[in-house]
Amino acid sequence: MLSWLTEVVRLAEDNVAAGGGPFGALVVRDGKVLSRGTNQVTTDLDPTAHAEVVAIRRACQVLGDFRLTGCVLVSSCEPCPLCLAAALWARVDRVVYAADRDDAAKAGFDDRRFYDVFAQPRRTWPIAVDNIRTGTEQTPFAAWEARPDRVDY
Ligand SMILES: [Zn+2]
Repeated sequence: MLSWLTEVVRLAEDNVAAGGGPFGALVVRDGKVLSRGTNQVTTDLDPTAHAEVVAIRRACQVLGDFRLTGCVLVSSCEPCPLCLAAALWARVDRVVYAADRDDAAKAGFDDRRFYDVFAQPRRTWPIAVDNIRTGTEQTPFAAWEARPDRVDY
């Protein structure tokens, strides 16, 4: 585990030299690295291109599956809520990280405010999130449930 963490921290450092953010991630299964990811938010103009998300996407392509059961997500820094949710959706077995959210905040990456927002009532969030019913909002679910060939995830 320590060697993967050391590798992923080096990957994060190298990504800074390449013009990206100071974050790296690996997806590991059965003692082998399936994929590597680095933060590409500013280089790809993609606010979701966090290192963990990039590594998860690549690992899924390697495996030809949308599930990463049996895998470990190794990150240079504590995954933010976006990346934790991606790890949950991917069904990884475990997440390990080196630096934590406080370390990231000192470098100007304050994920703590996003962690905090989920613990607060939605009406206090910095963006408006509104549920507006259309009367048709159930039809996609009905169509999904009517498909016998659906792949549950
Ligand atoms: Zn993230």
